[in-house]
Amino acid sequence: MFYTQLYDWNFLNNFDDEQYKVLAQTQLNVENNDFEVNVSEIIEKFHIKMEEEPMDGTSGKTVKGVIKINKNENPRRKRFSMAHELGHVILQSPSKDETFYRFMDSKNYETLEKKIDEREANEFAADLLMPKKLVEYAINYISKNNDNELDDKELVNEIKDLMNVSYTSMGYRLKNLGFIGDFNVL
Ligand SMILES: [Zn+2]
Repeated sequence: MFYTQLYDWNFLNNFDDEQYKVLAQTQLNVENNDFEVNVSEIIEKFHIKMEEEPMDGTSGKTVKGVIKINKNENPRRKRFSMAHELGHVILQSPSKDETFYRFMDSKNYETLEKKIDEREANEFAADLLMPKKLVEYAINYISKNNDNELDDKELVNEIKDLMNVSYTSMGYRLKNLGFIGDFNVL
């Protein structure tokens, strides 16, 4: 299945013609139960440079259009950071001199404008890694392969592994999409 078939029109509207073409020509093998959006492949095909390096107190940043990811974090956190930084590049086109940081503590963002940029990048990352349609395919797959009804926590756990994201981001996503009731980080 091509990525353009997984995302809704509203999300696809964020991309320019070249990027749209990439998404229309890049496949995710949902038919064979691959539910993990390949964010580094997308970044590479967009010709956006990405590097990993050790960082302190920051998960990622975008410097002059180059995405930098904290080398020391776990793979799922890195995936979310990649998607988040890609969000900055796509949504706010941090050109030439502006640097975005992904702080671990949101208190570090001084201005309201920065906070809004961060929120937008997080929403973009959730939309990119966990599009509603893909979540639905994954839930269908899980229910086909489980004889017993799963409770919310079990569902979050199963689907986070299929989509290779953290428990927390999957939990919030399923809640926001209305697939589970209340979600609290444990
Ligand atoms: Zn950010």
